[in-house]
Amino acid sequence: MPAYPAGSLRYCAFVSSLMKQNLLDFNLKGLADWFQDIGEKPFRAKQVLRWLHHFGAEDFDQMTDLAKSLRAKLQDLAEIRPPKLLSEQASDDGTRKFLLEVGPGNHIETVFIPDGDRGTLCVSTQVGCALECSFCSTGRQGFNRNLSVAEIIGQLWWANKALGRDPKGERLISNVVLMGMGEPLLNFDNTVSAISVMLDDHAYGLSRRRVTLSTSGIVPAMDRLRSVMPVALAVSLHAPNDALRDELVPINRKYPLGELMSACKRYLEHAPRDFITFEYVMLDGVNDQPEHAEALIRQVRGVSCKFNLIPFNPFPHSGYRRSPRERVQAFASRLMAEGIITTTRKTRGDDIDAACGQLAGKVMDKSRRTMRIVEVSA
Ligand code: SAH
Ligand code: SF4
Repeated sequence: MPAYPAGSLRYCAFVSSLMKQNLLDFNLKGLADWFQDIGEKPFRAKQVLRWLHHFGAEDFDQMTDLAKSLRAKLQDLAEIRPPKLLSEQASDDGTRKFLLEVGPGNHIETVFIPDGDRGTLCVSTQVGCALECSFCSTGRQGFNRNLSVAEIIGQLWWANKALGRDPKGERLISNVVLMGMGEPLLNFDNTVSAISVMLDDHAYGLSRRRVTLSTSGIVPAMDRLRSVMPVALAVSLHAPNDALRDELVPINRKYPLGELMSACKRYLEHAPRDFITFEYVMLDGVNDQPEHAEALIRQVRGVSCKFNLIPFNPFPHSGYRRSPRERVQAFASRLMAEGIITTTRKTRGDDIDAACGQLAGKVMDKSRRTMRIVEVSA
């Protein structure tokens, strides 16, 4: 150890010289800036991003088109550090779940859902969630922290490696949904940066239509997303009126339905798809009655949308039950009769607890478990 007293400027400089830059924390722009900072040509960023994400390189020696001297420099200054992969489970229906460690005591889960020629990866953006939706297991666990860019993109990085490619050499992951643990718009900068890596042709090259961000309705952040990174949008609605939505999705008290519908209309002006997907979890006797369907039809009038009805996925002590199948069908038929395309989500990965809202991981709750959403700013 050096002779500098802890806290002194020289000590801090010494410590930071020991900390290597994790290159998975960068998108193309960040990487180009960093190369410039270390006295290298910014165009190296494209090469290195390709190695990191296209080829899934785990160390700099694999980057054979970089000069040996540059590889040695990267070795000194940087690292490739994804979150630690702890385990992998496969469901009978082909769903695969990855458990990743993101620091002591905190785990997140990522789920791959194959469906015909489509393969969707469901990605988490936070450790836990602060928003306390009453029917959501993640929300019940509390909130610990935002995930870094490396931890968000690291989920895709790992899943791609584990899944490999199909016989035609195509990647199995064709779509990404930001629908795992957490509220992506409350981790705005890291989420947007990770999305830009997903879309980058030097990395995963996904189209904006194939990356869907799901939000509980953080209105100002929806407007920001529309201007900086318009990707496909899903909004978790779950109730046709403010009184019920206040109860199920408490952030509604801050951004009520009228404001949310206006934000959806604004988003559609720039969206890569010409509709918003409304997610609606079907809770027996709570929000699944004919009068709820009628009120919902009035509520979304004027918003180009599709509905995705989600059978509630139970978890211990939730206090809710899944709506019977006939009631879900009747609800869907009523919306369809109004010309609203409505699908019912298949429950996948039930046997490995990988369904929506069951992703719990392990969260050390650092939040005060009182109603504090009014303090959450976008
Ligand atoms: N925070 C974001 C994204 C993560 S939640 C959001 O709320 O949209 C992803 C989806 O799973 C949301 O539509 C959410 O309402 C739904 N969900 C949460 N708990 C669920 C449960 N127990 N059963 C079914 N769907 C659930
Ligand atoms: Fe958070 Fe979404 Fe769960 Fe609500 S449904 S608690 S916003 S993860």
